[in-house]
Amino acid sequence: TPALNVTNLRKTYGNGVEALKGISLTVEPGDFYALLGPNGAGKSTLIGILSSLVNSTSGDAEIFGVSIHKHRSEAMRLIGLVPQELNFNQFEKPFDICVNQAGFYGIGRAEASLRAEKYLKELRLWDKAHLQARTLSGGMKRRLMIARAMMNEPKLLILDEPTAGVDIEIRRSMWQFVSGINAAGTTVILTTHYLEEAEQLCRNIAIIDQGRIVQNTSMKSLLATL
Ligand code: ADP
Ligand code: ADP
Repeated sequence: TPALNVTNLRKTYGNGVEALKGISLTVEPGDFYALLGPNGAGKSTLIGILSSLVNSTSGDAEIFGVSIHKHRSEAMRLIGLVPQELNFNQFEKPFDICVNQAGFYGIGRAEASLRAEKYLKELRLWDKAHLQARTLSGGMKRRLMIARAMMNEPKLLILDEPTAGVDIEIRRSMWQFVSGINAAGTTVILTTHYLEEAEQLCRNIAIIDQGRIVQNTSMKSLLATL
């Protein structure tokens, strides 16, 4: 079963913009997959549909064989999402942010605490776990977003332009952890408009432009054609 199987996905927004014009793609389990495209290509729309924040107009997507339309909540349990914007409450503490996220998935308090400790430690945030999130550095806040997305131990981790507006040091520290998570077996998809970033990390790549997949290949073959 693929980690992700998208078939003929379309999205037309209320204003008539056709953001996705029939997208199909497959991501294999364990892959580190890039979705590359310029601004406005439809990347966020696709991620939004996969994470249930946007309704598709037609087509389907299956996460490890589970349809996001037919079995939405089951599919959502298999996904971790790291959105573009820092969207946690800055006055909350990283530990509580993680534990509360686990609560959304119905994970009990004891297990949630164990997981919060585990992922905050893995992301080198344990010494900040009980400080207000606003006191964290930019890089730490980004890593907190990853720790929070790991709380349901997703089989598929999706990062939406995680390094937009983020300096090189912070990028490195993020990629170090995401690579580790991938090496441990989690399938990773990231969107970016920087080929250099995708090039260093990803094994396979889809290029999306104006709502269509224009190329879908291994990173090696893509680089060979440049
Ligand atoms: P990307 O993430 O690749 O920059 P988006 O998915 O954000 O692309 O946008 C794809 C197209 O859909 C763009 O033309 C954008 O203006 C449009 N779009 C995105 N969100 C909305 C929305 N909520 N309502 C209307 N149009 C939208
Ligand atoms: P930011 O990128 O926001 O500064 P970092 O985690 O990179 O966050 O840096 C926070 C602190 O952790 C700094 O004092 C830095 O020296 C230290 N640090 C950075 N990388 C490592 C590492 N691999 N192991 C231990 N400490 C580190």
